[in-house]
Amino acid sequence: MLLRIKQSQIRQLKDEAYCSNPIEACALLFGKSIKTAYSVKKVVVAANILNSIVEFAINPQFVVVELKKAETEGLDLVGFFHSHSARAYPSIVDLKNMKLWPNTSWLIFSLTEEKIAAYMIRNDKLEKIGLKTES
Ligand SMILES: [Zn+2]
Repeated sequence: MLLRIKQSQIRQLKDEAYCSNPIEACALLFGKSIKTAYSVKKVVVAANILNSIVEFAINPQFVVVELKKAETEGLDLVGFFHSHSARAYPSIVDLKNMKLWPNTSWLIFSLTEEKIAAYMIRNDKLEKIGLKTES
């Protein structure tokens, strides 16, 4: 699996992570999915309603509104972004939440490692996703 994302979108997400640090930043990633790749077309930054430094949650009503908007634009929810002050690897809480959103990519930016990585749950297994940044 591959996640295609623009350099400008990565920059936007990193900026968001640095701005909200130490609170975890989060965003919805909308785009197109074809069999082996997700292509991010739109980044929607969301508030972390938990105001937490170790986990995040997005207001479900906000998600529904954005899902409806995206639908009219012909876009699907292809991923979630959030930042970590730990390593760029899903936490135990992340893994639980990821199971609720199978086949959706989880993009994690580690402020401590300055590293970004993507994962997904597929066939009940954690899988690392290739990241392809495009200009
Ligand atoms: Zn996390």
